[in-house]
Amino acid sequence: MKLNKLLFPVLASGMLLSVSCEKDNFSTVQEEAVVSKDQFSFVPNEVLVKFKDGKTGTKARSNALSLIQGVVVETIQTSAMKSANRDEVLLVNSKLGTLDAIAQLKKLAEVEYAEPNFIYNHDATSNDPSYTNGTLWGMYGDATTPSNQYGSQAGEAWAAGNTGSGTVYIGIIDEGYMYTHEDLAANAGTNPGEIAGNGVDDDGNGYVDDVNGWDFDGDDSSVFDGVDDDHGTHVAGTIGGVGNNGTGIAGVSWNVKLLSGKFLGRRGGTLANAIKAVDYFTDLKQRHGINLVATSNSWGGGGFSQGLFDAIERANQAGILFIAAAGNETNNNDANLSYPGSYTNDNIIAVASITNSGGLSSFSNYGATSVDIGAPGSGIYSSVPVRSKGQIISGYATYSGTSMATPHVSGGAALYASSHPGATAAEIKNAIMSSAVPTASLNGKCVTGGRLNVSGF
Ligand code: CA
Repeated sequence: MKLNKLLFPVLASGMLLSVSCEKDNFSTVQEEAVVSKDQFSFVPNEVLVKFKDGKTGTKARSNALSLIQGVVVETIQTSAMKSANRDEVLLVNSKLGTLDAIAQLKKLAEVEYAEPNFIYNHDATSNDPSYTNGTLWGMYGDATTPSNQYGSQAGEAWAAGNTGSGTVYIGIIDEGYMYTHEDLAANAGTNPGEIAGNGVDDDGNGYVDDVNGWDFDGDDSSVFDGVDDDHGTHVAGTIGGVGNNGTGIAGVSWNVKLLSGKFLGRRGGTLANAIKAVDYFTDLKQRHGINLVATSNSWGGGGFSQGLFDAIERANQAGILFIAAAGNETNNNDANLSYPGSYTNDNIIAVASITNSGGLSSFSNYGATSVDIGAPGSGIYSSVPVRSKGQIISGYATYSGTSMATPHVSGGAALYASSHPGATAAEIKNAIMSSAVPTASLNGKCVTGGRLNVSGF
């Protein structure tokens, strides 16, 4: 059952996304199966390999490649890897096929790890027509008008004077987002080291004209490519929709700077690109000294990846929280680990979804030790791009999923960081965890046993 949900997640609009097993999607397909025995999808014939220190440019490497009849597709050495350990990771195409190649590589002493190039999908589920007139219940608290005690209580923080700060950055690792949207444009962050459109990598981070972020899926600077970037745009609106402008929606943090690490395309995103997106933000923070407090990650899939774990750990060392969707399979993540939320890095906050009456959403994953907190995720109204008369214009829609719960927490991290300048990632995480309101439906279902409450931020 889980196979279908991983391979065929249903977007809120009802369209199918991320079908990863159509052979003609990939030019070098030789494998029939792109699903492992653990039922994770991955790019056929591709393997991500890391050799132990000092083994990368050597005879051992060429022997390993010939053993699996492999050719190097890409040598990945992000700036964040370079400044960490001068690590590099090889993306290899093997004629043996992914699983056989990994089995061979794991026998070699010089190989640190070898893993499939997993394909990830976003964690939205279906929309609910009864919500399409939309109320922003996820922003309410028990002391707001209108009120809803199960909302994030952001309205109470706003009333107390905290509406966020334009000096705080959040990285959105997802689809791209519509940074020109009427309710997002004022909060669209830019890379302070990059000059738009001059065709030069001004800041030397390896990406030319990465002004609003980078599109790792398309390998270009265009992080908004149309109505298929609706999921990323919806997430962006919940984090940082412009508040008090008489238009559309308001995000948890009315003022914030959003940057895009687009790696989910129409058919999902790969492990190789996820690593690059995580490292992109780690490097951007270190390179420019911007106050990038968290990345928001509403996606999942794949099995354990040492490569992704290492990238999240580099973010941890750089003081960046990794806020992740728990997933939508109604799964106990303690018993059946769900990545990336189930990685053990200290900077992860894994988020379950609740309804506007305080229940655990029917689709939401949970886990007493592997999920941290619940947040509004059912019937969430936010920004999307829509097509109208041949143009892409600003619109709004109601989606559900742990994808929608996660950006409430990301927005909360931004709110806390704005009122507590210099707060460390650990302090922000502790504030989020310790302010959770005990909630019956979450009792024994997550670490805090409670729901997001940003009223005191
Ligand atoms: Ca650049």
